[in-house]
Amino acid sequence: MRLFYALWPAPTLATSLASWAEQARPATGGRIMRTETLHLTLAFLGNIDMETAEELIDATPVHRLEPGSLTLDQYGVFNRQRILWAGPSRTPDDLQAVHDGLWLWLSGYGVQAPTQPFRPHVTLLRDIDPAKAPEPTPEPLIWHYDRMVLVASESRQDGSRYRVVAQSRPQPHPAA
Ligand code: ATP
Ligand code: MG
Repeated sequence: MRLFYALWPAPTLATSLASWAEQARPATGGRIMRTETLHLTLAFLGNIDMETAEELIDATPVHRLEPGSLTLDQYGVFNRQRILWAGPSRTPDDLQAVHDGLWLWLSGYGVQAPTQPFRPHVTLLRDIDPAKAPEPTPEPLIWHYDRMVLVASESRQDGSRYRVVAQSRPQPHPAA
């Protein structure tokens, strides 16, 4: 099973992200990602054997993620992958801690952390022309998260399909 953990935006935030994609596309071109598939990957696990996958599916609902928020305030480009994304210009410490804590927890299941640093982003467009500078950034978006989801990525003829197979226990946000 090809698995990843992600933050999944609420529908209103996903709609705002979709409008970021539409605003960038005249400049960069590329394929727009479907609104309901937009997400921020916390940990990409890759292919996981069925036994470990089932353990993770069972353990995820008892996992508590420290709730927090992040501000998406910039477009970014991954040149090599020809991706345009939305993300925070600086990774918040609490999101970094969520990422690091998640990988520490995953190491208990024998899943190895990547060597590259965490670069939080939401992929908006694929197959862009990376030489074309993105449009000016729209108004920043604030993302309050209280859980993560475990997603199975299944490859189909028309590309990958995502299926949410578990989610962590939703946590109350600290009183504002
Ligand atoms: P496809 O690869 O079929 O075009 P996809 O990229 O949407 O589709 P996956 O490759 O299964 O689907 O990736 C699922 C999520 O994990 C995506 O957010 C993707 O950006 C991220 N991801 C994939 N590979 C890696 C990797 N090696 N390191 C970090 N994140 C990854
Ligand atoms: Mg991929």
